[in-house]
Amino acid sequence: MVNSIPHPPTPVNEPILGYLPGSPERISLKEELTRQSNEIIEIPCIINGVEVYTDNVVEQVMPHNHNHVIARVHLAGENEVNDAIKASLDAHDAWSSMPWEARAAIFLKASELLSGEYRSKINASTMINQSKTCHQAEIDSACELIDFWRFNVDYARQIYEDLQPPVSPSSMWNSSEVRPLEGFIFSVTPFNFSSIAANLPSSAAIMGNTGVWKPSRNSYLSNYYLMRLMMDAGLPDGVINFIPGKASMVGDICLSHPMLAGIHFTGSTAVFRKMWKDVADNLPSMRSYPRIVGETGGKDFIVAHPNCDEKALIVALIRGAFEFQGQKCSAASRAYIAKSVWDNIKEEYCSEVAKITIGDPKDFSNFMSAVIDKKSFDNITGYIDRAAKDSGCQIITGGSYDDSKGYFIHPTTIVCSDANYESMSEEIFGPVLSIHVYPDKEFEQILETCDKTSEYALTGSIFAANREDIETAKKALKYSCGNFYINDKPTGAVVGQQPFGGARGSGTNDKAGSPLNLLRWVSPRSIKETFAPPHDWSYGFLNE
Ligand code: NAD
Repeated sequence: MVNSIPHPPTPVNEPILGYLPGSPERISLKEELTRQSNEIIEIPCIINGVEVYTDNVVEQVMPHNHNHVIARVHLAGENEVNDAIKASLDAHDAWSSMPWEARAAIFLKASELLSGEYRSKINASTMINQSKTCHQAEIDSACELIDFWRFNVDYARQIYEDLQPPVSPSSMWNSSEVRPLEGFIFSVTPFNFSSIAANLPSSAAIMGNTGVWKPSRNSYLSNYYLMRLMMDAGLPDGVINFIPGKASMVGDICLSHPMLAGIHFTGSTAVFRKMWKDVADNLPSMRSYPRIVGETGGKDFIVAHPNCDEKALIVALIRGAFEFQGQKCSAASRAYIAKSVWDNIKEEYCSEVAKITIGDPKDFSNFMSAVIDKKSFDNITGYIDRAAKDSGCQIITGGSYDDSKGYFIHPTTIVCSDANYESMSEEIFGPVLSIHVYPDKEFEQILETCDKTSEYALTGSIFAANREDIETAKKALKYSCGNFYINDKPTGAVVGQQPFGGARGSGTNDKAGSPLNLLRWVSPRSIKETFAPPHDWSYGFLNE
């Protein structure tokens, strides 16, 4: 049985290109950045493989230069959403009946396209659409997505193998038909990772599902190019239907549809909770109990023990908190640092943060760029303004911001005397790191504080040299995060190496980039065939 499953190529992580001066990848990316910056494209909905231009248009701009329009996006109305659902339901039979390896081959082809001719295009669009540096775009929209596609294909193979019942006694044959879910999958994606955007609809599709993809209003350009890439790789019409549109309208229609089979969501906790509640309210009219998979917010921590490696800690704080402007669900946004360590590193930390360059990502010397939009800018700067007025807070780096050209916020560090202050416990999703300095002798108490301070449990790090201290932290923080790092920053999970996801308020922990996620998109049918069925209904024990 096992040998009958065709094995795809063994997946390996895509190497990260360096974009060093003079390198071919840098030259190609710069050319593409110039090309995309000098055009305004029309982005349609894509329903059943057809481009639909609705003329209800919004403009997409560069966050770091918000007067610069990069696309005009044709938003779906109610008719388009209903058409997209219908197209996905119509495509279900042919797609789910296709041999799994034929479906998988499409995503392996997509990974090769992205690794090659599409790489610059997708990275450039992620840079100008979401204000990522070339490195942040490379690790997201190229490498992570290539990895998702390659590894998911192999995980699908494992699932199709493993879900076969091991035993068939003679006279019968047991098997498992690993079906997709019945109905359509509603994929709702965040702005901050192009890789996640394409992975949510495609991971369900690999397992034979069809669906509707609602991209974020802040990543239409990169997401549209990814949709086109999947189509170029051979994705049949109707399998994934691309529906830019008003979130509440698209959500209301999809979440109340009787054929909703599943939700694949990544985004904020508040939105996910609302979606879950809407589904619960609509359950009586639904054919199935929809599978609900959601990876949501975080308040990710670094705990530094008095005996930690101080240089490594400084690097982890800076990269963990400020890369991509702190707009990673895994970004380090609170740190608990032993007083002796803080006394040693404070000056160096501040002088290193002061060196951070910030501006247009097309200028490769910038380490940071703008935050995503005005709403986010106002939310983040609100935290900074309140901290500036709070006597328990001291802003020791950054604190300044300017949205005249782009939504720029300087890397801000707030030292908080109150370990429960709002910026120590709430997700800010911007370049703001809050630090609480604790007495060296209170390591165990601070672990308890760390565990209890926030509703989230996504990622976290312990910096310590001594094994007992590491084990103490590991035990005390067992449920405080879904991805735990020892002497490393809490960002940068790699597909196939550290499956990603958190629990508590951070999500359903279905681990993107692992077989656990793909398992949520199947609903096996157990089949028993009997070759010698009984011909007498009576049992021997009935005889006196
Ligand atoms: P968001 O919650 O604002 O939006 C996410 C998606 O939900 C978007 O497509 C949005 O349009 C849609 N949406 C909003 N209201 C809706 C509704 N009523 N019905 C249906 N869809 C609706 O999040 P964002 O700003 O795009 O992304 C940032 C958030 O995502 C942060 O909280 C971050 O922590 C989280 N995130 C989590 C992970 C993870 O793996 N845990 C990864 C990336 C981002």
